[in-house]
Amino acid sequence: MSSPLARLPAEIVTTDPDVLESHARDNAPLCAHGTAAALLRPTSTAQVAAVLELASRHAIPVVPQGARSGLAGAANAVDGCWLLSLERMNAVLEVDPVDRIAVVQPGVLNARLSRAVAERGMFYPPDPSSWEFSTLGGNVATNAGGLCCVKYGVTADFVRGLEVVLADGRVLRTGRRTAKGVAGYDLTRLFCGSEGTLGVITEITLALRPAAREPLTAIAFFPGTAAACATVTACMASGVVPSMLELMDRPSMDIVRGYRDLGFPPDAGAMLIVQSDSGPPASADLARFAEIAQSHGGETVVADDPSESRLLLEARRSVGPATELLGAYLSDDVCVPLGRLVDLVDGVEKIAAEHSVLITCTGHAGDGNMHPTVVFDPRDATQVHRAERAFDAVMELGLALGGTITGEHGIGLLKAAWLEKELGPVSLAVHRDMKALFDPAGILNPGKVVRSRAARP
Ligand SMILES: Cc1cc2nc3c(=O)[nH]c(=O)nc-3n(C[C@H](O)[C@H](O)[C@H](O)COP(=O)(O)OP(=O)(O)OC[C@H]3O[C@@H](n4cnc5c(N)ncnc54)[C@H](O)[C@@H]3O)c2cc1C
Repeated sequence: MSSPLARLPAEIVTTDPDVLESHARDNAPLCAHGTAAALLRPTSTAQVAAVLELASRHAIPVVPQGARSGLAGAANAVDGCWLLSLERMNAVLEVDPVDRIAVVQPGVLNARLSRAVAERGMFYPPDPSSWEFSTLGGNVATNAGGLCCVKYGVTADFVRGLEVVLADGRVLRTGRRTAKGVAGYDLTRLFCGSEGTLGVITEITLALRPAAREPLTAIAFFPGTAAACATVTACMASGVVPSMLELMDRPSMDIVRGYRDLGFPPDAGAMLIVQSDSGPPASADLARFAEIAQSHGGETVVADDPSESRLLLEARRSVGPATELLGAYLSDDVCVPLGRLVDLVDGVEKIAAEHSVLITCTGHAGDGNMHPTVVFDPRDATQVHRAERAFDAVMELGLALGGTITGEHGIGLLKAAWLEKELGPVSLAVHRDMKALFDPAGILNPGKVVRSRAARP
């Protein structure tokens, strides 16, 4: 009997083992991956539908992939699967300035859409740090967040409607183009963050905003993290609406210092970077922030113009490349109520000491969403073990503080064992029922997020 692959257009099928290996995993370290049987790169919804209909009939697992920039192993191959890359479906189909929407295929890169709409005087806010290379399909499937979510919200807040190919090949349309619409259940939201386990997203209708004003930036240095966290909570309670509010602890500042000299004061124990894009009131917002920071022992530098703003922002942007230079890292993604931010940052410091590992703690403090990042040498088994224990301890802490194990990176494989702890048995059972409803044969991204009852081990 010929392979089911022979029923698909030859130009979308690759079985070259080197290519398959190069597509076998995403950006998450320490996550297992299997060996795929094929890489499929469709160019239309009809081709995606044909792939899924065939895969369903032959019980072949399918792993959707965007740019594989994910940090949870969610796009990793499982043995014998078809990797379904959406990268060639990369057209911006429509930008409508009246209804303020864009309709895109899933393989469009976030930065490409953001620039295209900016040229037309509009703004697509969700801005994961991976915006230059991650796809909008991946952003929706992980419900990605970013720096300016503190003011504007996450990806799901901008998704008005979707076209999704279901596991059996049927094409579902969810949501709407209009500003309002409450007909039926909110299936659009259900697919946001579903990590390729419920269906394959083939078209996205996104809400846009009018262009934002050029932001102004300030940086404040503090003697320690407690004062920085107190400034965050006081600032959020004061009515100031920052368009970014990021925290860096001393270990983060130290690794940036080793990467490039940005002139951090030697005795600073923490820093905050804040932006306001509210136009003329931005200066008043930042003056109010500086007042609050000062009352907590902080010293603030306020940018006078947008080019100085961009310079100040370099401190935050340097954390990623500075971390890359140190070896492998596991990035936690816990999000806690703002009142517990200080307990999270303190607790992370204690976990680092307890497990004798370096953990930098940087993140979206205004959302309570921090990225404690455990740095380790992947060639040293003891370090790997300690890093894994510390990574888990941070999630345990996040839950104990009334937060979540993942604010934006998702569950994937990396945190699958932790999902039940967060959800509890009833919610987990409902999740499993949903998975069984959308994917009765368990072919869609098996083993990720929540295992279907029919899923293979
Ligand atoms: C340096 C760096 C910085 C990052 N910064 C951030 C950040 O600030 N905020 C943040 O949220 N994340 C961040 N990430 C993580 C990552 O970029 C996001 O999760 C991103 O949304 C993944 O998009 P992708 O196209 O790479 O998807 P992939 O990694 O390929 O896939 C991610 C998940 O989505 C599924 N998927 C992809 N496309 C589809 C589709 N069309 N239909 C159905 N399922 C699909 C996959 O099966 C998988 O489960 C960062 C990653 C890196 C490497």
